[in-house]
Amino acid sequence: MDKPEFWKNNKRYYDLKSYWRNLFGCTVHKLQIDAGFTCPNRDGQVAAGGCIYCDGRGSKLRQSGILPSVADQIASGKKYYKPAASQFVAYFQTFTNTYAPVEKLRALYDEALAQDDVIGLAIGTRPDCVDPEVADLLAGYARTSHVWVELGLQSVHDRTLAFINRGHDYAQFREAVGRLAGRGLNICVHIIVGLPGESDKDVLATAQTLAALPVQGIKIHSLLALDGTPLGELYKQGALAMITKEKYASLTADVLELLPPEMVIQRLTADGYRDIFLAPAWAANKLDVLNAIHKELEKRDSYQGKHYHQAAASASERQ
Ligand code: SF4
Repeated sequence: MDKPEFWKNNKRYYDLKSYWRNLFGCTVHKLQIDAGFTCPNRDGQVAAGGCIYCDGRGSKLRQSGILPSVADQIASGKKYYKPAASQFVAYFQTFTNTYAPVEKLRALYDEALAQDDVIGLAIGTRPDCVDPEVADLLAGYARTSHVWVELGLQSVHDRTLAFINRGHDYAQFREAVGRLAGRGLNICVHIIVGLPGESDKDVLATAQTLAALPVQGIKIHSLLALDGTPLGELYKQGALAMITKEKYASLTADVLELLPPEMVIQRLTADGYRDIFLAPAWAANKLDVLNAIHKELEKRDSYQGKHYHQAAASASERQ
C-alpha cells in the first residue's frame, strides 16, 4: 500500500488539520473550554485520587476566579486565530465534560454552537460517563453539527487500567463505543505509550484493538511524571522507569503503522505544566518528539496504515 493521496499533506500520518481542511475546505481550530465540570474519579463518585498521572490542572486554573461563560471563552479564544481561521470547534476539555445532568449539558453545548463560526463540538469525557441519555444528546447534535466525542482509555488492558487507577475497565469503554458508534458522531480515543508494566506487545495490542473498532480518531501521548501526582511520587522514589525518546518514537511509529489510514491522528505528544514537570525531560520539547517520530517513519519508508490491512487479515484468520 502506498501513502494515501486523500491525506493531501506532507506528513506520514493523517493529521487533524489536514482532515478538517479536506472536509471543510478551510482551516479549522479547536477552542479550549473549561465549563466547570468535575471528574467522578477525583470527586469520590468513582474514586478520590484520580488517575495516577492526573495533575488536576482544571482545578488549578479555576483558583484564579469565577469561570468566564462559554460564549466569553469562545470569544477570547477566537482572538488568537482570526482572521486566519474561518471555522472553529468548541472543545470542552477540562475534566469530564458529560458529568452533569443532560439539561445542563444541553445548555452548555447549545451556548457554544450559537457562537459565530462555531461549526462543531469536541467533548472530552470518560467511558463510564456516557450513559444512553448522554449518547442520545450527543447523537442529536451530530445531525446538524460536526461532533467529536473524546474518550480517555489509555490502554485496553484491565491490569494497566487498575494500576493507573482509571476507575473503569475496558468493558465499560466498549459499552460507551457501542452507544456512540454509527450515529454520525466521531469517536476519538486517548492512549498512552510507555505505561508502567506494559510490554511492546501490550501497546501494539491496544493499537490493533482500536484499529478494529468504529473509532475515527486517536490521541497518542507519552507518559509524564508530574510533581504532586502519585506517578510523580513513584518517579521521585526511583520506582518508575520512563520510556526514552527513541523508544517512544519507535513504538509510536509501530502503532501508527497498525492504524487504519482513515483514522485521524489528533495528537502525538503530551502536555504538562512546566512548573510541576518531572520527567521525561525529552517530552518537554514537543517539536523534537514529532521530528523523532517523523524520522523513524522516514527511516522505515513507512507511514500510518502501512501494516493495517495485513494486521487486520491476521486478526480475522485467528477468529
Ligand atoms: S479521568 Fe481525567 S480528569 Fe479524571 S482523574 Fe483521570 S485524568 Fe484526571
